[in-house]
Amino acid sequence: MPTALVTHAECLRHDMGAHHPERPERLSAIEDQLISSGLAPYLVRHDAPLATDEQLSRVHPREYVQAIREVAPSRGTIHLDPDTAMNPYTLNAALRAAGAAVLATDLVLGGKADSAFCPVRPPGHHACRTRAMGFCIFNNVAVAARHAIAQHGLERVAIIDFDVHHGNGTEDIFSDDEQVLMASIFQHPFYPYSGTDDPAPNMYNVPLAAGSGGKELRRAVSEVWLPALEEFRPELVLFSAGFDAHVEDDMAMLRFVDGDYRWVTEQLAAVAKRHAGGRMVSVLEGGYSLDALGRSALQHVRVLAGVS
Ligand SMILES: [Zn+2]
Repeated sequence: MPTALVTHAECLRHDMGAHHPERPERLSAIEDQLISSGLAPYLVRHDAPLATDEQLSRVHPREYVQAIREVAPSRGTIHLDPDTAMNPYTLNAALRAAGAAVLATDLVLGGKADSAFCPVRPPGHHACRTRAMGFCIFNNVAVAARHAIAQHGLERVAIIDFDVHHGNGTEDIFSDDEQVLMASIFQHPFYPYSGTDDPAPNMYNVPLAAGSGGKELRRAVSEVWLPALEEFRPELVLFSAGFDAHVEDDMAMLRFVDGDYRWVTEQLAAVAKRHAGGRMVSVLEGGYSLDALGRSALQHVRVLAGVS
């Protein structure tokens, strides 16, 4: 069965200003790599629907969703936090980003795709239950996890977060939720300065010092993530796929290379194959060096698609 690619043109119209690193060109950089590498024909494209209030409310209180709808500008730009802004297209982009994660989950759990990748923006893993921050408005991967549980009856979902920043929003949402295991690596100490202070038992957080690279990634995955995942036996593997730990990415100071993203995805694909019927859904988070982002995402999607 094919690998699904779920996104929407409206994700390109969310724009936080000419000098903001989370910019529309990020999606074009990924698209360019998928096309020039010859991988695009292996992917089946789907337009992301708008997430519904019911889907969002499994993660965010309805009052929060309503407040986001109410502050969305009809012209100009408003700020939700110093890093996170909305233009007139942002609300729909955010609804499409969460909707992409939901549709991707439906496709994979409905047996219509083996795996799925959602190159969407705004990203989601810093979005807490009641707070937008760090370029994120709705927690896309969290909406997918709760959808898999509520709509498809899954009991165990793993969220793998290899973005250079700690997914504090995802941790806020799922701490002590026995149906969800979150495995993450992140630069520490670094924005958002969380993830190390007595995490809940379902959080497998591995902080990495600035300058860490593939060797430290391999140790974290082999010694912390994989034993936990073997015990947990996830029925679905979700990725918060951020590519900003790349050595070429100026946002942070980790030193991953393209092949590290292939390696980590291979490890998780093996977990998914053993326990989850190979079912994987990946949602884009960070990654701000356009070239490294495109190449790294390509490595990740190649493994999702089983194309070497
Ligand atoms: Zn990040």
